[in-house]
Amino acid sequence: MKSITMKFGGTSVGSAEAVEQVVGIVKSELEQGNRVSVVVSAMSGVTDALLSSVRAAVRGDKWGYLTISQEIKDKHYEAIHILMEAGANREAIIITISDLLVHHTELCDAIKILGEATPRIIDAIVSYGERLSSRMVAAVLHDRGINARPYDAGDFVITNADYQNAEPIWEETQQRIEERLTPIIESGVTPVITGFIGSTPDGTITTLGRGGSDFSAAIFAAYLNSDELIIWTDVDGVMTTDPRIDKRAKVLPYVSYAEVGELAFYGAKVLHPKTVQPIINKQIPMRVRNTFNPTHMGTLIGAEAEDTGHYIRAVTCVKSVSMMTVSGKGMLGVPGIAGRTFLATAKAGASILMISQSSSEQSFCYTVVNNKADDVRKAVEEELSSEIFRQDVDGVDIMSSVVIITVVGAGMRHRPGVAGKVFSILGDNRINVLSIAQGSSECSISFVVDDKDLEPAVKALHELALESV
Ligand code: ADP
Ligand code: ASP
Ligand code: MG
Repeated sequence: MKSITMKFGGTSVGSAEAVEQVVGIVKSELEQGNRVSVVVSAMSGVTDALLSSVRAAVRGDKWGYLTISQEIKDKHYEAIHILMEAGANREAIIITISDLLVHHTELCDAIKILGEATPRIIDAIVSYGERLSSRMVAAVLHDRGINARPYDAGDFVITNADYQNAEPIWEETQQRIEERLTPIIESGVTPVITGFIGSTPDGTITTLGRGGSDFSAAIFAAYLNSDELIIWTDVDGVMTTDPRIDKRAKVLPYVSYAEVGELAFYGAKVLHPKTVQPIINKQIPMRVRNTFNPTHMGTLIGAEAEDTGHYIRAVTCVKSVSMMTVSGKGMLGVPGIAGRTFLATAKAGASILMISQSSSEQSFCYTVVNNKADDVRKAVEEELSSEIFRQDVDGVDIMSSVVIITVVGAGMRHRPGVAGKVFSILGDNRINVLSIAQGSSECSISFVVDDKDLEPAVKALHELALESV
């Protein structure tokens, strides 16, 4: 008997047809004698709708958030009515959904009265997406004869209070999962757990960041000691590039943890960047598979770096970033300026996606997301105010409307000439590279280009990745 943790993303639970697929997948695994733990995202579009309800409440628009709440209710009701016959089971889940949404509107009422929303209350509101979907999916599975029950991940995943991007407290999470969830599974229950959600040690709801259900699933897989983690989504696997940018994208049959870590960090939305973190030590194999094409085996992700002889496996991009440049003649040889700049950047709440320095040491640049750029500039200029006053540092220059493009492949390690090849392709396509950095794991090279060059750059480099499949 194997123990398998499965996560179904937003599209995979986004309609009655999708949930029907989920039932089939879970059933067939159980019929093979395996134990299954299910982690679900909110139905597609619901998290965004909940965030819009917060904005409506802040501006005092009661009609706005009531309408949104009603639309979310309709979406769930519609699926439930298609999936379940009339009767007591269906009545019970309809009441559960309705009660949850009454609480949602009560929270919106509170925001309306206060006229502002704290990160804490925003997390409480967005948590309703997964709370609704887990109950709906569990009810349908139960109705089809599976011993399924819904659970809120807040009972198991304990985090710090960094709302909207909370970090798990590992020991406590492990203890909770082992003590509270493992016995439930051993008693023969198929839990349907909310992805995305955690809670602080004192019980307030947190979330793990957008797309965080993948990370949730990996946390459960790790501490339930699963034999396999399967991320069920709406594409056949991890692909050579985002199929929405280049239709020629192909599924990679295998990628390593290191490669997928870089891919996800640099924009491949198919997995949350932290997904591999919890399972890497235990080397739990992970698969990315398509809920709507379940006979396809998808992409296997494991520890070994496969040497296919091709050094570039995939191309990714991160949009909406700004490149910050700190420059000045007086920076040469002065220690600490970069360190203080990065610290000030962190204090402004921005994470740095890539860094590069010119050999003259007279400038360095790094990228942050667009909406943090102004705050970062202010914070850094304040930190370096005496250097700016002495004219050792000119200040911080922001270049917005740029994108980061990353080529990923473990085979580029120790292989000379990869960067040369990449840049000659960009040169041939007349694409101007604004800055370059190599990932510390040596399995990626990232560079910044103007956002008008995004598509031509990805398509040109994608030719290299396509050769590898
Ligand atoms: P889910 O709701 O299942 O979590 P997401 O929308 O978060 O699904 O992620 C799946 C999407 O990621 C795909 O539909 C695809 O458009 C996008 N994507 C971006 N880059 C890649 C890639 N390299 N491989 C596969 N999918 C990718
Ligand atoms: N529902 C959350 C989101 O849309 C989490 C997830 O889908 O993984 O970001
Ligand atoms: Mg996702």
